[in-house]
Amino acid sequence: MEIRRIVPSGYCKGVINAINIVKKAREEHAGENIYILGMIVHNSHVTDELSKMGIITLDDPLKSKDELLDEIDEGVVIFTAHGIADSIKEKAIAKGLTVIDATCSDVLKTKELVKDHLDKGYDVIYFGKKKHPEAESILSLSPLIHFITSKEDIEQLDIDNDRIIVTNQTTMSYLELEEMFGLLKEKYPHCIIEKEICNATSARQKAVTDIKDGDVLYVVGDVKSNNTSKLATIGRNSFQNVYLISSKDDINKKDLTGQDKIYVTAGASTPPKLIDEVLNYLNELAAESLE
Ligand code: SF4
Repeated sequence: MEIRRIVPSGYCKGVINAINIVKKAREEHAGENIYILGMIVHNSHVTDELSKMGIITLDDPLKSKDELLDEIDEGVVIFTAHGIADSIKEKAIAKGLTVIDATCSDVLKTKELVKDHLDKGYDVIYFGKKKHPEAESILSLSPLIHFITSKEDIEQLDIDNDRIIVTNQTTMSYLELEEMFGLLKEKYPHCIIEKEICNATSARQKAVTDIKDGDVLYVVGDVKSNNTSKLATIGRNSFQNVYLISSKDDINKKDLTGQDKIYVTAGASTPPKLIDEVLNYLNELAAESLE
């Protein structure tokens, strides 16, 4: 049995930056309460590590960011790598909180693109994942943005404007994007298409697509992470067996019986330690299989 790590995989620059911002805030605001509005990046291991440093993550799928912000009365609030609505940021400042924004520069770039085209009178069609904080931050720009998550949503669109722009959440699957944007171009031939999948996401996805001889693919990451789950979706095109695991503890030895080439990739928010543990464990199993 051969074990190979797919490159690139794991942490992207946006995630590293966001985690560093939180650690720096801890140093600079010692003794103060520090809150993160949502998960800083979508990985519970990262959140657990930060909680050991006394950093409080406020994350409740049943509550809006606005409601979560109402729970903070003092100290520091950090906005996550996925972005935040301007209104929430303004409210935090008005409450007298120290505000730190860890939004990834790639998300900000998409936000600027959307804002700019709304200002110029364009109808904006935005492809993303429902209830994802990045999509929510973009949609907060205007109730007029056409939010689509599926092909069915395209059928429902009824736009009468010479100026239409189509764009997307940064962590979507590039294969899904091609299909969705192809359909939109058929429906609105004059639309401008701006593909906004970030480099980190597309490089990780394409590296998986490039593997032609794999038997098993392990995708290490959190199910909440959109880029992680899209890696698994893309992997299913070329691998018979794809497992999304949060750590080595999720590996079932039986899944490896009779398998030869085992590949490991990881989402952009997966800590390196977890990936190493998975690789070490698989290498141990491979060594055992030779005994
Ligand atoms: S996956 Fe892309 S958009 Fe998200 S934090 Fe990383 S670089 Fe930024």
